[in-house]
Amino acid sequence: MHRTLFADAISDYDDAKYVICGVPFDGTSCFRRGSRFAPHEMRDHSYNFEKYSSFFDIDMDDIKIHDDGDLEVAQDVETTLDLISVHAEKYITDGKIPVMMGGEHSLTLPFVRACKKKYPDIGFVVLDAHMDMREEYEGELNSHACISRNIFEKITSKYASIGIRSGMREEYDYVKANKIMMFSAEDVFSMGIENIIAGIRKNIQGPIYLSIDMDVIDPAYAPALGTPEPYGITPRDVRAAISCLAPQIVGFDLVEIAPAYDSGGTALLGAKIVRDFLASSAKARS
Ligand code: MN
Ligand code: MN
Repeated sequence: MHRTLFADAISDYDDAKYVICGVPFDGTSCFRRGSRFAPHEMRDHSYNFEKYSSFFDIDMDDIKIHDDGDLEVAQDVETTLDLISVHAEKYITDGKIPVMMGGEHSLTLPFVRACKKKYPDIGFVVLDAHMDMREEYEGELNSHACISRNIFEKITSKYASIGIRSGMREEYDYVKANKIMMFSAEDVFSMGIENIIAGIRKNIQGPIYLSIDMDVIDPAYAPALGTPEPYGITPRDVRAAISCLAPQIVGFDLVEIAPAYDSGGTALLGAKIVRDFLASSAKARS
């Protein structure tokens, strides 16, 4: 049975603080496609969970959540980004916190750009196995492999990444040359996620956009990904990062689940992470 709306998203648009949207686009994905099916699968799996979040001690149906459905996409990435930026800007202008379910990582750009218009000092924190610091990938400037580079160069230098364990030598050189705040998956193991987040919060004190590329998590927990990368962090690390940053988060996304590559566990975990973001943010703002 497939449900059309995310579980407990029972507010209408005007009343909502949080607006969930799906973006079923995976046009630049290079290895395994299929993240366009993730919004549908995450909505479906969201019905697995109790309304009461024991971890955050909050009832999900007390949170003002609206599900705006899936946004219209095109065949090519540029047109798609233009189409969704209209919605991203509306959500932010209307005072909502957008919760975007991808789709691939390139879709993050219009949401962060919309936040920048409203919050000129916006910071960007990304959890990802990959640098995504390429200048272009196979001729495409808006590839998912370039998203961090685009955000750092075009939107905000208040940037930090966590969980990194893959990139070209040139990307590592670029990060070093530009003194970019980057924590590897090994750093998470040795320093602890709470200490890493505390360090980031010293540097980025204003509003934050948090982007979670699902492949930051070890493929043992989350195998259904476009580009799985072993030696990852745990789901608990991700929940801790979300809850430590929650008071500052003004926009959120979760991208890169390709549901066809397992029997539902990764979409289930994705749905739980979205719910945990909603719960932790609502709790932090109450
Ligand atoms: Mn990635
Ligand atoms: Mn990515």
